[in-house]
Amino acid sequence: MTSQVTFIGAGNMASAIFGGMIEGGYPAEAITATARDTQTLDALASRYGIQTTSDNNVAVEHADVVVLAVKPQVMREVCHELRDSVQRQRPLIVSVAAGLGAETLDTWLGGDMAVIRCMPNTPSLVGQGASGLYANARVSEEQKQLATSLLEAVGLVEWVADETLLEAVTAVSGSGPAYFFLIMEALEDAGKKLGLPADSARRLALQTAYGAASMARESEFEPAELRRRVTSPNGTTERAINSFEDDGLRRLFENATQACATRARELA
Ligand code: NAD
Repeated sequence: MTSQVTFIGAGNMASAIFGGMIEGGYPAEAITATARDTQTLDALASRYGIQTTSDNNVAVEHADVVVLAVKPQVMREVCHELRDSVQRQRPLIVSVAAGLGAETLDTWLGGDMAVIRCMPNTPSLVGQGASGLYANARVSEEQKQLATSLLEAVGLVEWVADETLLEAVTAVSGSGPAYFFLIMEALEDAGKKLGLPADSARRLALQTAYGAASMARESEFEPAELRRRVTSPNGTTERAINSFEDDGLRRLFENATQACATRARELA
């Protein structure tokens, strides 16, 4: 039987997920979304054919899964509002909010709930996300499989066994898109310094990032092997790679991801 999935909050992240689910064949009538603004809800109902309501409690009445997709700063208020309904209905709770622990959410919802915490990233908005998921002890294997299939609608899903590992997920994939944007920016600037017209440098940098990522995903070889294969002895790429290694690129990544994970811990 199809699970009834309710999204509390129908913004960027929620619409990316239910949009991906529907595109993948999930029945729109099994999806409900809520938001503060009824105009948004009307637009979503006519675009996707989902159920909508501005009443959060009505929305969870028949839900098997409740996806909490409001901003972290309003989450406590939303959980308190939902407490009686979720205690009655006992749906699986999936939170995509950054920085809020499973135990905190469980307490706000009245306790004893099956809670999954998800750390998605912004490429989810174009169906190319990477999400790290953690389930508390009350989540069943079947519920984990269900959450995997829901989140796979917007990209890759990786489970972590320990909630603190979501800090590492934040450091690698959560904040990771910005690192790659920075690399594209730096490569574009470097190309301009070498004399390329600005728009040409940008197009070449972006396509190279896209091409390298596509190749790395499709290839049977790991990235390190792909790099070795394009690095001929004493060739041009080797000069560049040696320069990166001599300047400590790996240490830079290690320092940056550690700083990111530390900040994620401070915010939790
Ligand atoms: P958004 O502002 O686009 O959407 C928030 C939605 O919540 C809106 O539809 C708003 O009407 C609704 N809302 C606000 N108060 C509400 C209430 N009391 N009851 C019901 N609905 C209410 O935000 P977003 O970017 O989609 O982010 C949502 C969550 O996803 C956040 O917790 C954020 O940490 C997480 N997240 C987002 C991204 C991203 O790429 N956008 C990445 C990682 C995590």
